[in-house]
Amino acid sequence: MLIDISKILMKKGETLLFDAEEIITEAENYPDVHRFLQPVRVSGTVTNVKGSFEVCAKCGTKLVMSCSCCLEPVEVEVEFDLDEIYSNTGNEEEAETFAGEEIDLTSALERNLLLNLPMKVICEEDCKGLCPKCGSNLNRGECGCDTTEIDPRFESLRSLFKLD
Ligand SMILES: [Zn+2]
Ligand SMILES: [Zn+2]
Repeated sequence: MLIDISKILMKKGETLLFDAEEIITEAENYPDVHRFLQPVRVSGTVTNVKGSFEVCAKCGTKLVMSCSCCLEPVEVEVEFDLDEIYSNTGNEEEAETFAGEEIDLTSALERNLLLNLPMKVICEEDCKGLCPKCGSNLNRGECGCDTTEIDPRFESLRSLFKLD
């Protein structure tokens, strides 16, 4: 994603507005993402701050991930901020470098997107998950497996309290 900053390149204190979209086709770079349903929208400003370029943008996209319980695909909206400083002097340690009249936001965008993916996605609040025995999706109905076995750790408690 290239942003043309030629208009503010030599103008300290000036701000440029931009809107851009990045189409991400390689979903395999993002853990648990099946595919992107939309390009990543990026809109914000670039400001020439004493010859460095400060990018502040809101980003968002829609993608498909697996439910953490039942593994079915779930549509997820992801929103995140992008705040980066770019410099073409090579003197600023904290800044990304660029040359010419364009700033390339791609790597910062990918890094921030990765950081902002949800750790856990649930298809529905009461997702029943998968049967621990046969692996079938319990949201689609009971599989008939006997899952009432008592955990051996509870057996000793039962005798302790003489529950039987
Ligand atoms: Zn689920
Ligand atoms: Zn089962």
